[in-house]
Amino acid sequence: MAAKIIDGKSFAEGLRARIAGHVDRLKAEHGITPGLAVVIVGHDPASQVYVANKAKQTAEVGMASFKHELPADTSEAELLALVARLNADPKVHGILVQLPVPEQIDPVKVIEAIDPAKDVDCFTPANVGKVQIGLPGPVSCTPLGCLMLLRDQLGSLAGLNAVIIGRSNLVGKPMMQLLLRENCTVTVAHSRTRNLPEIVRQADIVVAAVGRPEMVRGDWIKPGATVIDVGINRIDAPEKGPGKTRLVGDVSYGEAADVAGAITPVPGGVGPMTIACLLANTVTTASLIHGLVPPSDLTA
Ligand code: NDP
Repeated sequence: MAAKIIDGKSFAEGLRARIAGHVDRLKAEHGITPGLAVVIVGHDPASQVYVANKAKQTAEVGMASFKHELPADTSEAELLALVARLNADPKVHGILVQLPVPEQIDPVKVIEAIDPAKDVDCFTPANVGKVQIGLPGPVSCTPLGCLMLLRDQLGSLAGLNAVIIGRSNLVGKPMMQLLLRENCTVTVAHSRTRNLPEIVRQADIVVAAVGRPEMVRGDWIKPGATVIDVGINRIDAPEKGPGKTRLVGDVSYGEAADVAGAITPVPGGVGPMTIACLLANTVTTASLIHGLVPPSDLTA
């Protein structure tokens, strides 16, 4: 195994410590306690775990955490009314509605109802546009986390060939914008891309965000490349016992680690960065709402 393992868990710990420092300064110097409201509708067990984690980490960095749990039969009008109250609440600087929402609710309507100034997921059209033209504001959490890991690993990214596999609004497209801003030459691949292995072989940076377990093979990787594996896939693990499962990424880790210069593991790579970046975005929005310049080390 030649590649350096990019330890997202420990980077995220350091990031949370920096966030806590910025939160302390906002409190002490400006009397502002950044507040994050998380809304969950229904009882999806995976969403419950995410939300509990977000609330815990929010409190740990010294922010105010507001959790709103609504029953699964909540109407769209009721959810929109809650979002409107949170938009108007001066103690709330970030609003996150945990997706997916039950089928009677249109997630697009809910996202568009969130005040862009408090849209810490960076889902609203206004904030997607700001990322595109490079204006200050929240940045999509997972791509921001990937960017922080890449900068830490490589320093300047200028002139590097980056191949992103996946073009979702959540990961692939914002990742493209951020890497373009860093002056990478960016290729975005998707399910219709031809000759994907050959395209990936040109990449100094590979970001895999596909949702297909271990799809990217070791012989697709250029020797020395930096590989960021966003994928989280649960697969059967009969070696651990009957009915057991384990998490793998979109990259065949063992193979790629023999060739790459550096690689993120799954779990412990990009995953821990996503929640940390949600907290970073809340400091950014709290600063902007109060007319302050957001800390430059927490954003793109
Ligand atoms: P989506 O399903 O929204 O997008 C997947 C993308 O992969 C699409 O653009 C699709 O192409 C492309 N794709 C599918 N099959 C292929 C293929 N055979 N070859 C090339 N491209 C292909 O997924 P997300 O972006 O939301 O998530 C991707 C992965 O990242 C998932 O495993 C998810 O769990 C994980 N994830 C992890 C996060 C973290 O915190 N670590 C956060 C968010 C996601 P097309 O557009 O043509 O359909």
